[in-house]
Amino acid sequence: MVGPGGDEVYYPREVIIKGMDILWAPWRSSYVENVDNIESCFLCNAISQPEERWRDVLVLHKSSESFIILNKYPYNSGHLMIVPIKHTGNYEELSENTILDMDRLLRLSLRALKEVFKPHGFNIGYNIGRPAGAGLESHIHMHVVPRWNGDTNFMPVIAHTKVISQNLLSTYDRLKEALSSLLTNM
Ligand SMILES: [Zn+2]
Repeated sequence: MVGPGGDEVYYPREVIIKGMDILWAPWRSSYVENVDNIESCFLCNAISQPEERWRDVLVLHKSSESFIILNKYPYNSGHLMIVPIKHTGNYEELSENTILDMDRLLRLSLRALKEVFKPHGFNIGYNIGRPAGAGLESHIHMHVVPRWNGDTNFMPVIAHTKVISQNLLSTYDRLKEALSSLLTNM
């Protein structure tokens, strides 16, 4: 199946088709429920892995205060998240340094996504708290979702699957390469 980015996209049987009535609603069911502490936080777990395991846990890049991780349950091709290293569910607890660092990673991500997927637009934002659609409340994360003209009528949300698809790994490799070359030339 060809996805909105022109890539071959793998959709397992668990695909859920949803409209985009509420901006961030599609992520509501995407994550592990009841994650309240660092020990069981998949974001803390991912960023604590050694660099040679980053591909397995989909971490693309780590800076001093934050990191970029590919969303395992993408809303669209290239859906990634910018995450502070600090485990907190409260945006107001982030230091200005952390927010600046996350913003730097956001801009880096946008450049890489434009280069690799040539999207027509982006949704960028936070789900804070359960009623706002946060699947993981205890560790704040910024979603970055590439958008293409016409993709609002067909929104696949891949949920409830533990298998990392081949498509996700190929997205990982392409973004990793784009990020590395952007970082080298900065
Ligand atoms: Zn955490």
